[in-house]
Amino acid sequence: MSRDSTIALISFILIFTLEYLFPFFKNPGYRIKHSLNNLGIAAINRMIILAGITYFALWLKWFSKEFAGILSSMNHNVFKILIGIILFDLWMYFWHRLNHEVYFLWRFHRMHHTDPNMDSTTAVRFHPLEIIFSYCLNLIVLGLLGLDFTFLAIYNTVMVPVILFHHSNIAFSEKMDNLLNYFFVMPRMHRIHHSEIWGETNSNYGTIFSFWDRLFKSFVTRPDIKSVTYGIGTFKKAKWQHVGGMLLLPFK
Ligand SMILES: [Zn+2]
Ligand SMILES: [Zn+2]
Repeated sequence: MSRDSTIALISFILIFTLEYLFPFFKNPGYRIKHSLNNLGIAAINRMIILAGITYFALWLKWFSKEFAGILSSMNHNVFKILIGIILFDLWMYFWHRLNHEVYFLWRFHRMHHTDPNMDSTTAVRFHPLEIIFSYCLNLIVLGLLGLDFTFLAIYNTVMVPVILFHHSNIAFSEKMDNLLNYFFVMPRMHRIHHSEIWGETNSNYGTIFSFWDRLFKSFVTRPDIKSVTYGIGTFKKAKWQHVGGMLLLPFK
């Protein structure tokens, strides 16, 4: 198993257990069923990525030969990786924002927001077509930045534990959350992004770093975080919460 997959699996097991032991909202009785549906979607997405990975790698290799990306002249070092992570995360911020602001993209992305019981498994609940769109665009951005698959694995090694944590239902210390939130997207910030209130849904787009939202004026907070309700109206119904319903949701 690759290093990024191993770290993803260990973080998931740890966070999933902590959610059980110290839940922020009471865990629903159907937690296992809920998790299996979200993980079912993740398995489909994983298969799509694995099926295309050889072609994706070849395409990126060809692109980097034809065009010199912004960071391509820098040697592989910690500085290049750090700049790469910051720039790629900036792209992720804009891509996420576009998914909310362009109605065609929102039809797919809203599946992520229809979860009425957000937890760590929601972090991998994305429509397969959204995954395909974002993967193709991510490759173009990687090429333009002059970054390769090794960099993508490093970005994922950092990104996956962060997104599992900020989607999690762990009752994390409010003080610590506020402190770390100056730099990183924390559970409190992302719970607001999953709120049913439209103005809150369209806020807090960050993936790893929270400062993009402050910089581009999309940062929203609220004092009474316990009163947040997740999901989107009619799509909270059980028929939209299993794998088949989730796959059909963009076409409804
Ligand atoms: Zn979103
Ligand atoms: Zn989310």
